[in-house]
Formats: sequence, C-alpha cells, structure tokens
Amino acid sequence: MPDYQETLNELEITLAGRQEEALVSIPTVLEVTDEPEDRYSRLRLIPWWDQDRLRSARVMVVGAGALGNEILKNLALLGVGGVFVVDLDTVEQSNLSRSILYREADEGAPKAEVAAARVREINPDVRVRALRGDISTDVGLGVFRAVDVVIGGLDNREARLAINQACWKVNRPWIDGAIEVLHGVARVFVPPDGPCYECTLSSVDYRLLNMRKSCSLLNREQMLSGKVPTTPTTSSVIAGIQTQEAVKLLHGHRGLPTLSGKGFFFNGLTHDSYVVTYTRREDCPSHDTFEDIREVHAGVANTTVACALGWARDALGPDAVLELGREVVTAVVCRACAKRQSILRPLARLTEADARCPSCGEMRALEMTHTIYGSEDFLDLTLAEVGVPAFDIVTGRSGWDMVHFELSADREEALGDIA
Ligand SMILES: [Zn+2]
Ligand SMILES: [Zn+2]
Repeated sequence: MPDYQETLNELEITLAGRQEEALVSIPTVLEVTDEPEDRYSRLRLIPWWDQDRLRSARVMVVGAGALGNEILKNLALLGVGGVFVVDLDTVEQSNLSRSILYREADEGAPKAEVAAARVREINPDVRVRALRGDISTDVGLGVFRAVDVVIGGLDNREARLAINQACWKVNRPWIDGAIEVLHGVARVFVPPDGPCYECTLSSVDYRLLNMRKSCSLLNREQMLSGKVPTTPTTSSVIAGIQTQEAVKLLHGHRGLPTLSGKGFFFNGLTHDSYVVTYTRREDCPSHDTFEDIREVHAGVANTTVACALGWARDALGPDAVLELGREVVTAVVCRACAKRQSILRPLARLTEADARCPSCGEMRALEMTHTIYGSEDFLDLTLAEVGVPAFDIVTGRSGWDMVHFELSADREEALGDIA
C-alpha cells in the first residue's frame, strides 16, 4: 500500500512548483492577487481578460429557449453590461426541462421578460432590455448597429437569415447555434468579408425554405412550430461555445483565435467534435453592407413616408427612391373572382382572414412593395404605420448610389436602459 502522506507531500511540492512557474510566466497574476476579491476577481486572473470591456459591451440574444437560457445565464455570470433579449413566445411547462431561467409559476408570461428579470437577479450589474417580438419584423437595424455582437438561440432558418442579413448590413458579427437531441453546432459569421450564414446553405436548405415560403405566408406560426427534441446538456455545451466565442470577439484587440467563418460540430453520443471552415460564395445575395449611414433625429412614429423620401432626394437628387427594407402589402387579388381590393398593411401584420376572398373564400394573391417612388397614395402615413420598427434604418437610392438613414430619435425607446 503506498504511503499516502508521502504521495500527498510530493503532490504538494509539484503543485507549488507549477504555481511558481505560472507566477513567473504570467507576472500579471502577482499584481492581481493583491486586489480585493470581488465577483469578477477569478476572471481577472486570466491574463488577457478585460472585465471593463465586458461591462461596456452590448450583446443581443435572439431567442430565449433552450440555447437562449444558457447564453443569457452565461452573459449574466460574466458581467456583460448590456443585454438585449428578443423572443416572441411565452413560457410553457415543456420549457422547464431545458430552461434554467424559468419556473413553474412563469407559465404564460413572455419568455423575454422573465429571462430578463432572472438575468438581473443573477447579476444586478447587468442591464437588460427585453422585447417580446419577431426578430425579422420588430427589431430595427439601429438595434443591431448598437450592439457589439448578436447571438442566436433559434430553431428555424427564416430567423437565421433575417439576423444574418441585418448583421451584414450594419457590420456586426453574429454567432449561430443549433441543437438536436445530443448533437449541436456553433458557428461564427463576421462581416463584411467572411462567409455568411446564407453561404453555408445547401440546396436542401433552400428547398425547405422555399417550400415554407410558398405555403406559410399567412400561417407562419403554424409552420414554425415544428418541434425538435433537445436536451439541457447539449444546449449548455453549444451555448457555452457560443458565449465563449462572444467573449473572444469582445476581446478582439487581444488577437485570440475565434471560430470566425467556421463551424464547431459536436456529437454528443461519442463526444467527437470537429471544426469546418466555410467558403464565401461570391454570388450570395446576403452580402450587402451599408457604407454611408446617417443618424437622423427623427422617429418612426412621427416621420411620414413623404418626409423620409425627402431625405433621400435631398441627399441624392430628385430621382431618388426610398427603400423600406420590409414588404408593405398594397392590394389583395382574387384570381377566381377577378377582383382586386386595395389595402395597406405591413406584410407582418396581415392575417389569414385579411387574405381570404370574402366572396369565394379562396386565398388571394398579394401585391407588395418596399420601394417608394413618390406617386403612392400613402405618402402621408408614418413609417410606423407602414411597418417600419422603431430605430430602424431606411435607405435612399438613386441608381447605384445609396444613403442610409437611421431613425435615431427612437434610440431610447428601442434600447431602454442599455441605450
Ligand atoms: Zn453569404
Ligand atoms: Zn374570390
């Protein structure tokens, strides 16, 4: 039988030696250990760690489901100063097996708001803005521009594409995550020159996207409710990698290696993992990056379409048009009855009942636009009334020349106390 005490002594000597080595090779540790212990003192022992950088950072988390819960928990523990969380849904009992931030009593409450409250509870240093809404229609581009990095905890390609295009437009990196049973993937997309999410889509992805687009225009919620089995264990692995990548991106000045343009694939059955490097597709349609963004002191609720078109013409001449970035439905047409009815509604707010023909009950075709030429009959409506979300960016265009106008007066309303 080995002499325990002797073994322990040896171990202590070895450890002490290693510690000395560590202290010698990383002298900053010596300085830090003199500081009083606080919430972040163990993090500050990491030589490249910059807690002030994290405290001044803003991170958007899209989706507060299994991945979003873990991401938000990690951001709270790390003391990331400003968090913007978006989710459309309410808490259900079935979320409780994979969502550390939710309790039984939260059933029926908006996920974004409950998650925000729990983040504040975990760490009062973190300011959180919750938005119950849809990422593709309710979050202005100014919000994307105001954050340092976007992290996705999503379960559908449509929302990923929306985030991807928004991030490219305002030049902000985003970190995608996906989980299914015990498998998962985390990947990092960095504009303007890296491969983007759409560059990674296969022909199968496109087929699924188009299939859903063609039949889901009016009952998106039904189409998005496809349930994928997920576990809290795999979600914590993938969300851990996503948050770690966010921390590294926020420490960009330290030159740390990241998963930029790459995907980390994890097989939870075997615990094998591998990293793939994506290629940028030069014909990919999602690589628009806004060059000239001007902050205008106006908001969507009190700016008319005519007024915004005026900004475009002042900047680019009388032939300029205004691009809204979102579709506005201008009419519905019944092919069976050969009848056309004018309506004016943002596509996102059109219901199935609006689109059914009142005479024959068939689904009617939609006429839509996102370009304003100046002859429209709705020029005196406000941008909000045609579906432009608060703190969005609208675009003036004349030929290839473009100027982008951020509705900066909405900043406080959109960002709340992380403004
Ligand atoms: Zn691309
Ligand atoms: Zn009809």
